[in-house]
Amino acid sequence: MSSFKFDVVTLFPKAFQIINNLGVITRALDKNLIDVNLHDLREYGEGSHRQVDDKPYGGGAGMVLKPEPIYKAYESIRKSPKNKTLLMTPQGKVLKQKDLARWSTLDQIIIICGQYEGFDERVRSLADEEISIGDYVLSGGEIPAISIINGLTRLLPGTLGDPESLSNESHNSHLLEYPQYTRPQVFRDMKVPDVLISGNHKEIEFWREKQMLARTYKKRKDLIKDNFPERLESFSPESDDWFWNI
Ligand code: SAH
Repeated sequence: MSSFKFDVVTLFPKAFQIINNLGVITRALDKNLIDVNLHDLREYGEGSHRQVDDKPYGGGAGMVLKPEPIYKAYESIRKSPKNKTLLMTPQGKVLKQKDLARWSTLDQIIIICGQYEGFDERVRSLADEEISIGDYVLSGGEIPAISIINGLTRLLPGTLGDPESLSNESHNSHLLEYPQYTRPQVFRDMKVPDVLISGNHKEIEFWREKQMLARTYKKRKDLIKDNFPERLESFSPESDDWFWNI
């Protein structure tokens, strides 16, 4: 099986060294499940100073990445048949688990990272999708890119020891995961719920489903509102009716 390719255009390729120390992701690199190619924007800079940024037309604070070096770096990338180009920007669609799942069936993701005040507007036309990792502003697209590489890689077949661990986890079913416990049974007076040591698998499953709904309701009501809008009004975690109706 050929590896899933990530090609990243960045002014700070060294920022990606962290993926060599990220457990599961590092194992995926070692097993050649993924291939991460970094394209150093500086190499495509202009003039003897390899200039990659310039002042914005019309004035204003900071520097903007020039279009030419980004286009050149982008054009140097060998494209696989099933590829998508993602532009990291706080103006993009906020990244969701379903996006990672959707991209995991491709064979290449190309990521363009901005820096400083961002990039020349004409860079946007390279992108299939503009992606933000949240409604806040970071200094560069490297951490967003690493987040995408990390989240997507753990969905690839062969990356996780036990692929079952993907099925129930938070956001997969638009719900948060149920509470997890490991040994010891009592830790500083905090007890593992009896049902989990009952050995009754049906009851455990029922308890977990209920917990997923109840904690999503408590912590992220917006997820219920977005995905089960009709249920929100009748929803009361204290009664069991809502649970059966969802
Ligand atoms: N002035 C720009 C922000 C520049 S931040 C604006 O208002 O839109 C510099 C770069 O960091 C961006 O070009 C982008 O690549 C990256 N970045 C910052 N915050 C991000 C976020 N929440 N998601 C994705 N990329 C982000």
